Amino acid sequence: MNAAPADQIRLLDLQAIDSRLDQLAHRRRSLPEHAEIEKANADHTALKDLVVAAQAQLGDTTRELTKAEQDVDQVRTRAARNQQRLDSGAVGSPRDLENLQHEIGSLAKRQSDLEDVVLEIMERMESSQTRVTELTARLDHSTVVLKEAEQRRDAAFAEIDAEVEKVKRDRETVAVVIPADLLKLYTRLREQQGGVGAARLYQRRCEGCRVEFSTADLAAIKREPKDEVVRCENCSRILVRTADSGV
Ligand SMILES: [Zn+2]
Repeated sequence: MNAAPADQIRLLDLQAIDSRLDQLAHRRRSLPEHAEIEKANADHTALKDLVVAAQAQLGDTTRELTKAEQDVDQVRTRAARNQQRLDSGAVGSPRDLENLQHEIGSLAKRQSDLEDVVLEIMERMESSQTRVTELTARLDHSTVVLKEAEQRRDAAFAEIDAEVEKVKRDRETVAVVIPADLLKLYTRLREQQGGVGAARLYQRRCEGCRVEFSTADLAAIKREPKDEVVRCENCSRILVRTADSGV
């Protein structure tokens, strides 16, 4: 393939621009914020599940308390009614009176037992409530951590994307003047050779693969016409001869 030496040199400019674009894409992919966001998301999800479970437990305990308080009320009402009957003097027979007093006694015992149950449930409810409060605070914190990481990522994205836009415009102006066949070869080689399609010949080396040419190889390269598109024998990249190539 033939191409004007100036166009071959432009290929090196294009290569520098493409390498810069590759770097920017790599930077965009490997921002530390990606891992941070992933971790913050996992923490956030786990905490959300814990809050839901703690709230459910609090709900259960609250219902348990209501039920236990109703039990106490029932016993208290019955005891009050019995006491009223006793105080009214309406119960005449000693046997009935004894039964009534006995019932009042067992109701008092029952009420005291039920009140202990209520206290025990209230204690559990308090620790349930504390857990909900604590987990909710942690969840809120994890939301903030996640949001901050996302904001930092988006700021980095914006900065990278703005530079990508600028570099792409530069690429346009360089690429537009390079002959189509040369550009096509460069593009194909760039895809095959890990992003580098054209390399400078400098200090006896191909700057693409760093292979050092022998004197005979260099002499052969030197004999090639200036508009011949030379390829590196080692990596097959386009080997661009510049003013400082020494050939
Ligand atoms: Zn090479």
